[in-house]
Amino acid sequence: MSKRIFLGLDMGGTDIKGTATNDAGDILIADDDWTKIESFASQGPQITLQQLKKAGQQALDLIGAQWEDVVCVGLDTPGPASLDGELSQSPNLNHPEWNDFGVREELEKVLGRPVIYNNDGNAAAYWEYFRLYKDGKEKILAAAILGTGLGGALIHKGEVVTGARGFGAEFGHIRLPTHKLVPAGQPVPVCGCGKEGCAEAYVSLTALKYHMEQGLQLPENQDHPLHQMEDVENSRAKSLLKSAQNGDAFAQGLFDFQAKALGLLFVQLANCFDPHIFIVGGGLTEGKDENSKKFIDRFIGIVKSTFEEEAFEQSAKNIQIEIAGAQDHAGCQGSALLARQHANKVGL
Ligand SMILES: [Zn+2]
Repeated sequence: MSKRIFLGLDMGGTDIKGTATNDAGDILIADDDWTKIESFASQGPQITLQQLKKAGQQALDLIGAQWEDVVCVGLDTPGPASLDGELSQSPNLNHPEWNDFGVREELEKVLGRPVIYNNDGNAAAYWEYFRLYKDGKEKILAAAILGTGLGGALIHKGEVVTGARGFGAEFGHIRLPTHKLVPAGQPVPVCGCGKEGCAEAYVSLTALKYHMEQGLQLPENQDHPLHQMEDVENSRAKSLLKSAQNGDAFAQGLFDFQAKALGLLFVQLANCFDPHIFIVGGGLTEGKDENSKKFIDRFIGIVKSTFEEEAFEQSAKNIQIEIAGAQDHAGCQGSALLARQHANKVGL
């Protein structure tokens, strides 16, 4: 009897991660073994499609399965994209041929198997939902993923909320209350999308860079060692995490501010969706050593205290705020499980 396998392929600007699940929803590839190869996305879609096939093949080899065993493939990529995986201009996919490229449809042609599409934030959030509640249909989970930008996702009673066209749950572009974050007379930060005051303009690597540069102008920071550091591909902003973990007060202050802004975003989301849980994921929350753990506790502590102060009492009392459980491979695991969910729904 042939196996029933669901592949998950998480395609990013630099690499592709792959894994597989079965009918029961067990992840079949151990955390240390999962497939990871380069995506070559900056060279355009054709080479990346071949890399996706190669990643799928590697995952199948690891579990001793064949393409014929694959019932459905779940693909996720950085957004924005339509419901059917037609990509809009993405800052992470740096080649003109990606614009308006129907990546789901094209991958289906290359693999000869059914492919479904999700954006990477939704796939990762679905993994978090499944990790906590399995196939349960009662819970509501909202996720914020902190990276270069600020990703958002909403899983409502076991279903990814995509919106009518695929652009729903873009929490990074919800406007935050300026009077709580910007001193009177100061400029409101501008988001990568061009609008003022989006959550992403306060909570993201891009925001960190902006607020760092502002802070370094202040008289009390004139002797800060960052002034001596060359800035290559955001290296100064990226170095702030280590500095904060090591107790640098300036760096810590910048992250405290981001945590406060994230707490204010959660207040808005609580009023819209009244979820059971908020999940915070992304690079900031990943470290395992003592200093990283202390940093994460402080960050989440400020998110929680801001939320408790500003949200309605019922929300403050009942909504959990937790860090993500699986980080780097949440996307491919979520994609595999979403392929399984789709197959069950349509009877593949
Ligand atoms: Zn925006």
